[in-house]
Amino acid sequence: PSLRREGFSSIPNVKWDDVGGLTELKNKIVRGFIQNIKSPEVYEEYDVKSQTGFLMYGPLGCGKTLMAKAIAIESGANFIHIKGPELLNKFVGESEKAVRTIFINARTCKPCIIFFDKIDALTSKRGKDSGSVCVLNQLLGELNGSDEMCGVYVIGATNRVDVIDEAILRPGRLGKVVYVSLPNAEERVSILKTLARKKPIAADVDFDTIGRSEACNHFSGADLAELMNEAASIAIHNKLLAASDDNTNQESLPINASYFEQALQTI
Ligand code: ATP
Repeated sequence: PSLRREGFSSIPNVKWDDVGGLTELKNKIVRGFIQNIKSPEVYEEYDVKSQTGFLMYGPLGCGKTLMAKAIAIESGANFIHIKGPELLNKFVGESEKAVRTIFINARTCKPCIIFFDKIDALTSKRGKDSGSVCVLNQLLGELNGSDEMCGVYVIGATNRVDVIDEAILRPGRLGKVVYVSLPNAEERVSILKTLARKKPIAADVDFDTIGRSEACNHFSGADLAELMNEAASIAIHNKLLAASDDNTNQESLPINASYFEQALQTI
């Protein structure tokens, strides 16, 4: 996106209930971060320093972006979604300006969450290349302006916590680091049920069995979403075939167990 458009807020459409599994993380985050955004005056009354942000790390497709969007909705905050690599501009100085603009925009629509996806692109250990050093310094500078930061919150996400510069992780910056893991069997069941909520599912589909099955071992949330979409695509295909064939019963064709079996073969 052009730098002029960089940093504009939006209201995401991911609700808390759209995030399956991750129960412990959700509880932890509800207690700390969301309460903080919703009731900063209570934190002030008890002289507890506001939490400015946190960093989520973990494997691809496990719900970090989903979680950040759901936090915005749940806390009633505006949301600015920044993809780290897109911000790194080859023209010297442009990326720092973009970081500044993002924070200026965030301050105009408080409370506001700035979500830095793939934040490692901006904050990898210093000394590697001068472009990212400048961006990191700009980011640290913005996070340090604690009065101005009031009402502005920062969530970072990365798959590469090992390359993140520790300076960004100090208290008052992205002090907390939370791990978003691959879902276990029980969480896979919960994610499948979450993903299925708005879909027509046949009575013979047993998500408890599918989620716990060997075939879904090591599946991420994104893999489970792909499984769900693949099974739905088979149902759609069959429905359209039935519709084009006058002799066929054109009742609704929900997504049944055999479609999930077929979908599992292809994923
Ligand atoms: P990356 O590290 O690649 O940026 P991520 O951890 O941010 O990935 P998301 O973008 O949040 O992952 O997830 C990708 C998709 O996978 C989501 O849009 C959703 O369809 C599905 N998904 C992942 N985790 C969950 C979950 N816990 N509950 C429901 N759906 C999920």
